[in-house]
Amino acid sequence: MRLIVQKYGGTSVGDAAKICNVARRLLETQRDGCRVVAVISAMAGVTDNLIKLAREVSPQPTPRELDLLLATGESAASALIAMAVNALGGRAVSLTGAEAGILTDRVHSKAKIANISPRQIHYLLNEDYIVVVAGFQGQTNEGETTTLGRGGSDLTAIALAGALNADACQIFTDVDGVFTCDPRLIGDAKKIDEISYDELLEMAGAGSKVMQSRAVEFAKKFSVPFEVRSSLHDAAGTLAKEETANMEDVVVRGVSIDRKQAKLTVDDVCDEPGIAARIFSTISEANIVVDMIVQSVSEYGTTDLSFTIHENDLDLAKKLLTPIVAELRAAQLIAKSGVAKLSVVGIGMRSHSGVAAKFFDCLGRGGINIQLISTSEIKIAVVINEAEADQAARLAHEAFGLARLGPVVTAI
Ligand code: ASP
Ligand code: MG
Repeated sequence: MRLIVQKYGGTSVGDAAKICNVARRLLETQRDGCRVVAVISAMAGVTDNLIKLAREVSPQPTPRELDLLLATGESAASALIAMAVNALGGRAVSLTGAEAGILTDRVHSKAKIANISPRQIHYLLNEDYIVVVAGFQGQTNEGETTTLGRGGSDLTAIALAGALNADACQIFTDVDGVFTCDPRLIGDAKKIDEISYDELLEMAGAGSKVMQSRAVEFAKKFSVPFEVRSSLHDAAGTLAKEETANMEDVVVRGVSIDRKQAKLTVDDVCDEPGIAARIFSTISEANIVVDMIVQSVSEYGTTDLSFTIHENDLDLAKKLLTPIVAELRAAQLIAKSGVAKLSVVGIGMRSHSGVAAKFFDCLGRGGINIQLISTSEIKIAVVINEAEADQAARLAHEAFGLARLGPVVTAI
């Protein structure tokens, strides 16, 4: 009999009616002849509310207690799902992460899964139960509750699908799948049928947060294909899987925007060993995440070093770098907020030429200035003014023929 893991996100279990709807779906899947393991997120907004409450009683909540608190969101939702299945005449049992055999390291709030012993799950499946597992949580060797980072129920689902050697892993959410661009922005953005793990990772990193990145990394590492699909209807979603040869036929799979970025430039700094290390060690000690880094060619012994960070970190970065810029005798520190990163992603880029030229050409013709460029094997990203990001995304989406109806001419 097929074994299927279905994960339902917070919006899919957002109220009692939706919980009953999920319960019905689980029963239907079982009646279709499958053994069913459900992984459930906390009801929409619950985790955020618990974090808010914790901050109201403590400026720095103890990590252990915070994990214990946040895990209750998923425990409650999975118990409710099991109850709803039982009320509909089915048989379901809900399990905490610990009961499901999910063992993690001791790093509270972003624990890594160390091992899964799904004995209890196998036992219950053999007894014809629908097994409902609380997502996002696990347990250390010592029996302490841990959580797997925001969005961690995705990871629970992928890891369980891998450990159970499931025939399918379906991630149910409130969108129809992964799109060629944000459909709220581009009306004719198309749902992608198949995407490679690497493309999904690049797109998640580029701002299209459909799935927790760690979950996709895990899926890639252990070759766990999964489907992202809507819990609102029955249409097929997007299948994420190992890449196959024909996937390279599509040059660009999608376009994504990262807003609220800031750009810093250390202008005319000495071109000597150790300078970049000095700048970036200061930034990393403050736990500021750096995205793009671009260093220009050295001229007369000096160079310009530019990088991007999240807008929220800009004040802190400026404060930390100002004395260093003086110490290194650079000309100045130039800080600019209100920029965005626009990326085109696709494994087909590896075997097709002219992608960069086409991308830059459509931006140039749209009058959009490129401030920084960075590339990976399967991505080209540019930094542009945030105010122009939507227009730029439309132009790129159009230029690479990603629209549902094929290329259409839009007024620029
Ligand atoms: N409830 C957790 C969060 O909001 C985990 C999840 O939903 O996947 O991040
Ligand atoms: Mg999520």
